[in-house]
Amino acid sequence: MFALSFPKEIPSFGKTMTFIALNDLSHYLLFAGIAWLLGYVLFRGWWHNRKIIQEMPSGADMRREAMWSALTVVIYGLVGGSTLALKKLGWTQIYTKVDDYGWGWFWGSIVVVIFVHDAYFYWTHRLIHHPKLFRFFHGVHHESHNPSPWAAYCFSPGEAVIQAGIFPLVALTMPIHPGAFGLFMLWQITFNVAGHTGYEFHAKWLMDSWLGKFLNTPTNHIQHHDSFKGNYGLYFNYWDRWMGTNHPDYEKRFREVTSR
Ligand SMILES: [Zn+2]
Ligand SMILES: [Zn+2]
Repeated sequence: MFALSFPKEIPSFGKTMTFIALNDLSHYLLFAGIAWLLGYVLFRGWWHNRKIIQEMPSGADMRREAMWSALTVVIYGLVGGSTLALKKLGWTQIYTKVDDYGWGWFWGSIVVVIFVHDAYFYWTHRLIHHPKLFRFFHGVHHESHNPSPWAAYCFSPGEAVIQAGIFPLVALTMPIHPGAFGLFMLWQITFNVAGHTGYEFHAKWLMDSWLGKFLNTPTNHIQHHDSFKGNYGLYFNYWDRWMGTNHPDYEKRFREVTSR
């Protein structure tokens, strides 16, 4: 398993950069590809009522999203390779022997990274919606008013650097095993693709339960894309609730989509 066989000696920058970029590319293609196949080919008719925006994105839109995403994985490789170069200098808290912190921390660190990433995403996302920063950092992502799964990594290079920043942030501040971070990356691409595919898969009752106040939904993010207003969160909804930044019609929209 990758988690156990991570090399003690870090290979050259070029090799680590290429490895990380290809790894991220393969996961992007696999997860977005599965979502596309299910939601846009095989079950397109059957799931139609749950499509949050009823019309489908055009082929040109999806190609544009995939092109920017391909550039993003290169930037992820560069930032990832640079972070591993910092490890060589002894600056990071990346460790390669699971026994150093035990399996409890190996799994616990993934949970911590998920909550750290959720906060990081919410606040950086709000920041790049500032009118002075929006065009340069976030305009590319918002060209998609009706995104497809291929929009998962559709970022301008500037935003890709911000998104990639979670790796150095974690590596410099907490002990993290590369295998644990790799599993976190699978978690994030799963949610990211699910949020952009455009189908609401949660049950209607969710919004009337505490879980609906806590978890985020695809409706939340699709509404962010089509209205540009509110809904800055990623995995969870509590930052948007605490800060009063949910779209005023978020819950109404969710109920409308899940009642069709
Ligand atoms: Zn945004
Ligand atoms: Zn988005």
